[in-house]
Amino acid sequence: MTRVVQKYGGSSVATPMKLRRVARRIRESVGGGSEVVVVVSAMGDTTDELIALAHRITSDPPSREMDMLLSSGETITAPLLAMALHAAGTPAISLTGAQAGIRTSGAHRTARIVDIVPQRVLDELERGNVVVVAGFQGATEDMDVTTLGRGGSDTTAVALAVAIRADHCEIFTDVPGVHTADPRIVPNARVIAAIDYDEMLELASAGARVMHPRAVEIGEAYSMEIRVRSTFDNEPGTIIARQDKMEIRQKVRAIAHETDVAKVTILRVPDKPGVAAAVFGPFGDAGIDIDTVLQNVSHDGTTDLSFTIAESHLRKARRMLPSVAKSVQAQGYTATAGIAKVTVIGSGLRGTPGIYAKIFRALADSEINIQMIATGEIHVTCIIDRPRVRDAVRALHTAFELERI
Ligand code: ADP
Ligand code: ASP
Ligand code: MG
Repeated sequence: MTRVVQKYGGSSVATPMKLRRVARRIRESVGGGSEVVVVVSAMGDTTDELIALAHRITSDPPSREMDMLLSSGETITAPLLAMALHAAGTPAISLTGAQAGIRTSGAHRTARIVDIVPQRVLDELERGNVVVVAGFQGATEDMDVTTLGRGGSDTTAVALAVAIRADHCEIFTDVPGVHTADPRIVPNARVIAAIDYDEMLELASAGARVMHPRAVEIGEAYSMEIRVRSTFDNEPGTIIARQDKMEIRQKVRAIAHETDVAKVTILRVPDKPGVAAAVFGPFGDAGIDIDTVLQNVSHDGTTDLSFTIAESHLRKARRMLPSVAKSVQAQGYTATAGIAKVTVIGSGLRGTPGIYAKIFRALADSEINIQMIATGEIHVTCIIDRPRVRDAVRALHTAFELERI
């Protein structure tokens, strides 16, 4: 018998009608002889609404209480879907993350799954139930509720699939698979039929929301095949799995973008050892991730140090910057909102002469100014002004003829 984990994202379960539709889809899998564990997200924009609600109470809510609040979104969807399955004649039971045995670290809002004790889930499958698990949430050893970070239901699904030794994990979403760029920005973007974990991880980390990066990491670590498909049709979608390295890999696979970006520059810091560590240390301690970093060539013994952070962390960063700048004897700092990053991904990027020039030419031809550049094994990221991000994605997609693949 096949055992699968199916995850349904927020827009797939946004209304009672959609929940009934998802229930029908699950029934088909059960009817086809599969054991099914389902992971659900909060309905529609519930998580955003809960965040907004909290901010109407206080601008700085404690993260433990935020986890209690945000986890409630998924805790609502799971029993509703179990009811829809019952009503359609399919035995089902809903479980919270904690009941499903998902144990996490105590890092509220960005907790990591430490392990999963799947006994309850397995027992319920044994009893013939479809098990509907609330995604995005877990609990610490002390039974404090945690959440896994935005988009974290994907991670719940892949981790559960590993824990119950499922044959594969299906991520059902509102687009028909992983595309060569966000189909909402590039209407002629194509579905990628199969992609390796490493390229998918780059794509997810560079902002393609369709998969949570940590879900891809877990998939890779445990060789769990992930299928990304549309909730609303029966197309095969995208298979994320190890690909045959012998085949000729495509140079450029996809373009990703991220708009939650802000840029910080520490101005004219002394160019000496220890400065970067002194700047980034406090940010790390405050839980602010540093992304792209650029240090200029030094003139007269001082240099500018620029880096990007999530714009959602900008307020916190602004509070820290005066003391950080002072501690490294900088002459000042700037903190700019309204930035974006666009990333070209492909395992053939390295070793293809001229490819960097082609990227920068495509942006230049659209008169898009590149503020910072970061490169890796299989990606090139350009930091640009946010209002130009759509143009940048489209220009790069066209330059690499990704619509033809
Ligand atoms: P869900 O609620 O199902 O988890 P998300 O909103 O988290 O869905 O992710 C799906 C969205 O990801 C799509 O609606 C699409 O706009 C966006 N997206 C960004 N980049 C890509 C890409 N390369 N391929 C597919 N979707 C993408
Ligand atoms: N509901 C959570 C979010 O919106 C988790 C998820 O949907 O994956 O981020
Ligand atoms: Mg998602």
